[in-house]
Amino acid sequence: MSAVPFAPVPFDGHKIAPETEAFLGQTHKLLIGGEWVEGSGELASRDPATGLELTRVQTGGAAEVDLAVAAARRAFDGPWSRMTVAERTALMHRLARIMEQNATLLSQLDILDNGMPGFIAGLTTANCVEMIDYYAGAVMRIEGTTTAPPRHIAAETEALTYTLREPVGVVGQIVPWNVPLSTAILKLAPALAAGCTVVVKPSEETPLSVLALGQMVLDAGFPAGVVNIVNGLGGDAGAAIAAHPGIDKVSFTGSTATGRKIVSAALGNLKKVSLELGGKSPVMIMPDADLALAVPGTAMATFFLQGQNCMAGTRIFAHADVHDELVAGLKAFAESMTLGHGLDPATMQGPMISDAHCAKVMGYIEGAEAAGARLVTGGGKLDRPGNFVRPTIYTDCRPDMALVKEEIFGPVMAVMKVETTDLDGLAALANDTPYGLSGSVWTKDLSTAHRLVKRIRSGHVSINCHGAVGTNIPFGGYGQSGWGREFGKEGLDGYLETKAVTARL
Ligand code: NAD
Repeated sequence: MSAVPFAPVPFDGHKIAPETEAFLGQTHKLLIGGEWVEGSGELASRDPATGLELTRVQTGGAAEVDLAVAAARRAFDGPWSRMTVAERTALMHRLARIMEQNATLLSQLDILDNGMPGFIAGLTTANCVEMIDYYAGAVMRIEGTTTAPPRHIAAETEALTYTLREPVGVVGQIVPWNVPLSTAILKLAPALAAGCTVVVKPSEETPLSVLALGQMVLDAGFPAGVVNIVNGLGGDAGAAIAAHPGIDKVSFTGSTATGRKIVSAALGNLKKVSLELGGKSPVMIMPDADLALAVPGTAMATFFLQGQNCMAGTRIFAHADVHDELVAGLKAFAESMTLGHGLDPATMQGPMISDAHCAKVMGYIEGAEAAGARLVTGGGKLDRPGNFVRPTIYTDCRPDMALVKEEIFGPVMAVMKVETTDLDGLAALANDTPYGLSGSVWTKDLSTAHRLVKRIRSGHVSINCHGAVGTNIPFGGYGQSGWGREFGKEGLDGYLETKAVTARL
């Protein structure tokens, strides 16, 4: 590890918007029952690009979670359930407009708190607005069905059987740090559309943008207690949410290890659980792949969001015919990437979220060559404040290596040369993982593409692109990548119960 050659300056010398500066200067409390209330603890929010403290945020534990759940229950039993669907829709659209007007603030908070490049924060903030509008539009399309009445009643008399779709109830939403606002909104928007009330716990690494959102929820005029925000540690506020007997469903995004703890904690009241967990996604490069597409596509499959991306394609299976040309292109792409502060428009890759996470990523890098992998480029940190890991590529990788088997969550790519074009053989390589979140197939042959996609055990596979997710497209994992789906119609279904009704007429 090299010495740091210069002292950090706030935001690396870049300017922030006046509204961002004003937000950072505020006292940050918990949002419970429509009021900003004092927490029982405090945590520091840091800019991972400089290591400097941005602001302090109050935190809660089990007692504050109790208060938030009680407020959410009052809102669920009270004003929120009495609202018409037209009122619910209008409130959500109003929130989307307020977010749109405050897009710079929301984007800059995610840049500062998470370290993501500005172009990603711009995209994700716009997507959050779109998602609120999308699910606002879905409120009036929540529909049940009619079906034939049970035969013993139908034999005696005329009858009617139909289903009602009803909100699950009070929902706990536990979100990670890698895309802070998005991972909260993609839970919040369908939950609100369904008529649920929520207690959100942002990650302790990135508490800011969801707090700013909380004020926008109040400004939009949502009834008190519909959205509650309790910042805090995972083992503290998070564990209290997962175990709480007053919560009907917990929706979790984070690591597979924490996902297991959530499931155990939820057993007490058998609350519904949805899980969006880790991944180790395959990128399948066929001999006829268009390398003009596959080189940047594969590079960004790994390096997008500095590799802190659940969909990251990090196991690259490259056919021998194109392997060397692909690797040469990936090397040039990686070496052309500008690393820096997310506020700098030239930045393509930011820092790792924390010292601890960087140490984990560097551990994989340090072990790779001893395990037999060959370093093509990267393999170290920048000589500057913050944890900037160079885009790193290894070839000569084998499926038994730690860097191929485990989710690194950093900018580290493992390339494996394959000789076969047998689709079952390729699928066996792609599926040699406990995960199944994403993946991509690169070929000009449509038949090959669709037949290989069908064989890959994963919730989301792209052809000649990677990680092509969208508001309306269901997203979730096979295997140990999770339970349930978010986004699209299935994302809304996760917050609805079905009640079957039979009426003797
Ligand atoms: P994490 O599991 O450490 O933390 C996620 C959240 O869970 C945080 O809010 C944390 O405070 C909380 N938490 C931690 N311990 C808890 C406990 N015992 N009980 C309740 N809550 C607890 O994950 P992370 O490091 O924040 O995020 C990275 C992971 O998230 C990666 O594995 C990544 O693949 C995954 N992820 C998945 C998706 C997806 O959609 N599948 C999206 C983003 C991130």
